[in-house]
Amino acid sequence: MTEKIIVVTGGSRGIGAATAQLAAARGYAVCINYVSNRGAADAVADGIVKAGGRAIAVAADMASETDIVRLFATVDKELGPLTALVNNAGILEHQIRVDEMTAERINRVLITNVTGSLLCAREAVRRMSTRHGGKGGSIVNLSSMAAKLGGPSEYVDYAASKGAIDAFTIGLAKEVAEEGIRVNAVRPGLIYTDIHASGGEAGRVDRLKNAVPMKRGGTAEEVGNAIMWLLSDEASYATGTFIDVSGGR
Ligand code: NAP
Repeated sequence: MTEKIIVVTGGSRGIGAATAQLAAARGYAVCINYVSNRGAADAVADGIVKAGGRAIAVAADMASETDIVRLFATVDKELGPLTALVNNAGILEHQIRVDEMTAERINRVLITNVTGSLLCAREAVRRMSTRHGGKGGSIVNLSSMAAKLGGPSEYVDYAASKGAIDAFTIGLAKEVAEEGIRVNAVRPGLIYTDIHASGGEAGRVDRLKNAVPMKRGGTAEEVGNAIMWLLSDEASYATGTFIDVSGGR
């Protein structure tokens, strides 16, 4: 049987870390990408190795094409032929209105969330597509409920980046459907991770959770479970589709 080999971008913390752990438990060899928090990435990798799995932690900035190319070359060399990608790394910036935004801020968000994800998909397709001699595979992109809700007065730039992820998911899914690759996305709602602190409001999930029909925030594992289903053969006829993991919001 072909070994399952996965890259999880932003796998050091939050949803990415949970996904890396779930993937390892399902037999994937895992590349945990991170940008700066080496301690967190090593801890996820060490945990997987101690449990008997295969994992490496690789620093690469999703805002850098050179870094992304090196990330995938490292996986080729150290783990083997890629079979899955989770485009999870994503950033948002402090909560402000559009009339206060600078071009620098907007471009930072777009290059990391959109260009980075597209370039990772490019590298994955070059390896997995039957058109390129690969054996097929699966890609899951991290969108957000912000793509539907728009992020008003918080981060419309981030919401727009996730709208781009939605269009990219639909388009790439059609482009590679005949080449053995499925492309899907998950739209998390309010999930307890560090991302809200990076937006300047660590307690954001608790402030907003009563607007969620389930009246609670979600966990990284709950998102990771949806990602794992989309990656798996159980989702063999699903491509270009979305799972909202958002408590009904
Ligand atoms: P998080 O807790 O803030 O973790 C972010 C992860 O991405 C970390 O592993 C971080 O690495 C990595 N990262 C950040 N910038 C990077 C870059 N330039 N290059 C490579 N890696 C980078 O985030 P999260 O909440 O788990 O979010 C994961 C994904 O889910 C994102 O795409 C986010 O937009 C989406 N999402 C989250 C929520 C939510 O409520 N949490 C809701 C909807 C969608 P370091 O550890 O090295 O910093």
